[in-house]
Amino acid sequence: MSSEEKEKTKGQELQDKLTWKFPLAAKESPELAAEAIRFCEPYKDFLTNAKIEREVVRYAVDKLEEAGYTVFDPAAHYKSGDKVYYNNRGKAIIATTFGKRPLSEGIRMNAAHIDSPRLDLKPSPLYEKDGVAYFKTHYYGGLRKYQWATIPLALHGVIYKKDGSCVDVRIGEDPSDPVLYISDLLPHLAAKQNGRRLGDGIRGEELNIIVGSVPYPEDGLKDAVKLNVLCILNEKFGITEADFARAELEVTVAGPARDAGLDRSLIASAGHDDRVCAFPALMAEIDSKEPEYTTVTILTDKEEIGSVGNTGLNSDYVRHYLEYLAENGGVSYKDMLKGALCLSSDVSAAYDPTFADVYEPGNSCYLGKGTVIMKYTGARGKSGSSDASAETMYRVIDIMDRDKVYWQTGELGKVDEGGGGTVAQFIAGMNIDVVDVGVPVISMHAPIEIVSKIDVYETYKAYRAFYK
Ligand code: MN
Ligand code: MN
Repeated sequence: MSSEEKEKTKGQELQDKLTWKFPLAAKESPELAAEAIRFCEPYKDFLTNAKIEREVVRYAVDKLEEAGYTVFDPAAHYKSGDKVYYNNRGKAIIATTFGKRPLSEGIRMNAAHIDSPRLDLKPSPLYEKDGVAYFKTHYYGGLRKYQWATIPLALHGVIYKKDGSCVDVRIGEDPSDPVLYISDLLPHLAAKQNGRRLGDGIRGEELNIIVGSVPYPEDGLKDAVKLNVLCILNEKFGITEADFARAELEVTVAGPARDAGLDRSLIASAGHDDRVCAFPALMAEIDSKEPEYTTVTILTDKEEIGSVGNTGLNSDYVRHYLEYLAENGGVSYKDMLKGALCLSSDVSAAYDPTFADVYEPGNSCYLGKGTVIMKYTGARGKSGSSDASAETMYRVIDIMDRDKVYWQTGELGKVDEGGGGTVAQFIAGMNIDVVDVGVPVISMHAPIEIVSKIDVYETYKAYRAFYK
């Protein structure tokens, strides 16, 4: 014993033995930083290249097929180690690796969502006002509208033409592309606007996207700037104005995901929520070779507007897949679900020291402390939450501990400060044990969000452990 080290007092010993604080992962395990950076390089590429649900599904199909997955055939016979996937309308996808145990002993499920808050184009978006052409938008999901002005934006999605052919749209991502832009007032003229409440700083009908300022060169034409934009679109995509009614066009932040922080410990990107769980979930699915239990990895759409629609998690597409799986394995659907354990993989609000007063420090999750297990989400007394049981918490924490995953607990802000929900409530409604496990995010739902690379990596490790 060196001279500086003193023997611990009885109280200090008891403190070591009886109290608990989640450690900073990198302090305890310095080697994690480099491992996390390695894991997150492909994650950053994924963020940059698969920005909206359709692009994520395409990315997932490519990766799954590369890894030997085939399209699920309810009539085929599958054995342990076989890998299949089901593509729901190009906007949601389910992947499975068959396990060693029979389906009647239960399955392991992991559900993340691949839609993110954004601005959608309205069905008749293009108009001209006072010599400027614009797209009208309707925002999607819970966002703070004032954050979306004066930043470079990109357009992603599809347009169906009258003849049924489909045009893929992706404008604003290539460095040589033009970007889209929403204006705001200059401070010199903002005295009146400054008096608006922050939530009203930019209003829904002010989220208008500038798309042109040059008129079609012919005298006497009405809306000649709009016409010029249509000429450009017609030349590039072969579309006319009527085709917008058959389109799904989403506006998100232009440009790639970037390292953030001088220590490069963080990633700044649009739409971490919830691709930051979807990517580790997909990788854990692919990396599961001979799992004990059959896996069901769901990357779903429409979580941000309530898991609605036939590509949202509360649609029968999930139940039908599970039913097919049970029938195919010759077991009762009900028995299979009763024994299922599911992670609802979604982000949580990381404690933000700058805005500390909305968090309860003892029950918040923190950057760099690993994956966050949320027993409940919801608002106003846990409404809209599934509130995982102590038994479910035991099972999931035990899985994390066995694989030495850094995990922490979390809550979405102080009681009655706000709140939010996830897909967990709908999974629980199917008689499945479920708990939320995901990545802490700073500035969730902002055009650019921040996550810690270590938390992303620990979340991957958590999902891997879950599928062992
Ligand atoms: Mn989410
Ligand atoms: Mn969200």
